[in-house]
Amino acid sequence: IITSYNSAEDNINVVVRVRPLSNKEIKNGEDLVVNFPWKWSSPGKYKQLGYVDGILGGPSGGQRPKLFSYNVVFEPAATQEDVLQFSGMKRLIEMAVEGFRCTCFCYGQTGSGKTHTLTGPPGLFGLKPAPYSDQHGLIFRSFMYLFKLIQEQPGVQFILKANLLNPGSARKPLAVRWSKKARGFFVENLFTVDCEEFDDLLAVLEEGLRNRSVGRHNMNDYSSRSHTILSVHITSEQPAEGGVFISRSGKINFVDLAGSEMTKKTQSEGKTLEEANNINKSLMVLGYCISSLSDSKKNRTHIPYRDSKLTKLLADSLAGNGVTLMIACISPARSNIYETINTLRYAARAKKI
Ligand code: ADP
Ligand code: MG
Repeated sequence: IITSYNSAEDNINVVVRVRPLSNKEIKNGEDLVVNFPWKWSSPGKYKQLGYVDGILGGPSGGQRPKLFSYNVVFEPAATQEDVLQFSGMKRLIEMAVEGFRCTCFCYGQTGSGKTHTLTGPPGLFGLKPAPYSDQHGLIFRSFMYLFKLIQEQPGVQFILKANLLNPGSARKPLAVRWSKKARGFFVENLFTVDCEEFDDLLAVLEEGLRNRSVGRHNMNDYSSRSHTILSVHITSEQPAEGGVFISRSGKINFVDLAGSEMTKKTQSEGKTLEEANNINKSLMVLGYCISSLSDSKKNRTHIPYRDSKLTKLLADSLAGNGVTLMIACISPARSNIYETINTLRYAARAKKI
């Protein structure tokens, strides 16, 4: 029996992560356009950052700074572990173990740090057994935390299943259908792996990284033309009085969204343009879904899940007793200022604080 864990207001957490300047940006003499109106000296301070402002338009910018508010903002110096500890991610895992459907998105333009945040630098998972590194991303850290939680409950039997979905890399578009029985959308012929151990989960992740489609994208070596979704289904049976069991079924999705940049900047053409339009549409619909969820006054029956494949797939974790964490990733460099403002607006709309 699952009781409501928190109020509707808490269903969505929006945090921003500002990546450091890249070597190339430093070489080009780029200045920073993201400023922070507070000082962080020690990680302990993150806890006090319930509501913070990110200021855009630095001292040399000349423009009036724009102010945005989020649950937490991570400075470039924030570590991968800081993101696990202070983004609300641990609570998502705890809730998934308790039977809720949870989703963590990374949103942002290509090159803003989405994949870095979720998985870490490229090549990290090509090593077996994966050594622990301070560069390991949020997924790896979440898996560790998940197994810790499970080990703390030896009396409960857990079953984990994982699948990895990269609709853009499939030969044929994957069909998303409605299941009456399961009362949810599902993907046809999706490959699902039973995971008994930590390494099984990592194997699914690794496989997905190998399969990432690499396209003719001008902005990055790693293609950012498709969404990648890693889902972990967590079911459990807990013995209760009178020989009955309490069963729970939760889920956690990690979503590395396609790059949010505008079509023209990616100089896409032909089929790629069509893909870009689909991406723009799905990100737009996702934005609508999240903002109508966070606005409790709006009529929830009008949440437009059915308008894109991505939101159909995530409908169960965006609605009802689902919990969502959005990590908006941005570059601090002046050359990215317009995309950065777009991302900050998108994220601010997702949750009005
Ligand atoms: P995206 O997935 O959004 O396209 P990436 O995660 O691939 O972007 O990041 C682009 C580059 O910046 C990569 O080389 C990545 O390693 C680096 N990078 C991103 N975020 C950070 C960070 N917080 N610290 C150090 N390097 C980062
Ligand atoms: Mg990426």
